[in-house]
Amino acid sequence: MALDEIKKIDIKFLKIETYEVPSGYEALFAVISNPLDLKFKAMEIEQSSFLGRFMDIDILDNSYTIITREDIKAPQRRCFLCQNSAKICARSRKHSIYELLNFIHNQVKKHEKNCRYSI
Ligand SMILES: [Zn+2]
Repeated sequence: MALDEIKKIDIKFLKIETYEVPSGYEALFAVISNPLDLKFKAMEIEQSSFLGRFMDIDILDNSYTIITREDIKAPQRRCFLCQNSAKICARSRKHSIYELLNFIHNQVKKHEKNCRYSI
């Protein structure tokens, strides 16, 4: 999704906070918008670029209930290591943190290399 598409969403930003934590970078956005529309856009961001697949964008409504892919009738996310349901792999801890981080690191390095050569 192009940034122009994101700008088309009716969002009023109330507060933005960013954190660097052991699991990586996090950002919290408090906004006024339709949570189902935001979930669609979040999925588009996650799926629209090579590195987007490594993002995990959660949308919560005003009662702090998380909006799921099931709520918008979208297919479940696939595990990038084995292509099974990502939720099942995460809950069962099928893959070690080392496996996941190693895969992500290698994918990011490949992406950087491809970007360097395409300029
Ligand atoms: Zn898996």
